[in-house]
Amino acid sequence: MKDWGYSILKGRQIDFENNDFSIAEYITKHEPSFRWCIGCGSCTATCSAARLTDFNPRKLKLLIQRGEIKGLADEIAKCMLCGKCQLVCPRGINTRNVIQNIKRALNTCHAL
Ligand code: SF4
Ligand code: SF4
Repeated sequence: MKDWGYSILKGRQIDFENNDFSIAEYITKHEPSFRWCIGCGSCTATCSAARLTDFNPRKLKLLIQRGEIKGLADEIAKCMLCGKCQLVCPRGINTRNVIQNIKRALNTCHAL
């Protein structure tokens, strides 16, 4: 049961029945460090694209892990692949390769 009772906030439970986890599975398979993210936000604070647009790599990773991939192709197109996020990530995640694999996953798993 996903929704019940009264709430002034929109429910944000993960919908495991309807969300699409294929992109997350593809990335984890090809770049296992994707799982190490602690959501600290250092990547977003340093991101070149975030300075110029509303791009948010931390939020993007979270949405992919939640299986919420609507509009992902448009979002990921904002990344310049500069690699600054990788330099500051405290978990040593190969963020650039994660982004490359998001693009590959979109091409192989989906036509979004
Ligand atoms: S800097 Fe690394 S650990 Fe922090 S949110 Fe970004 S990817 Fe995750
Ligand atoms: S590689 Fe992409 S996500 Fe990482 S800092 Fe550069 S523009 Fe931002």
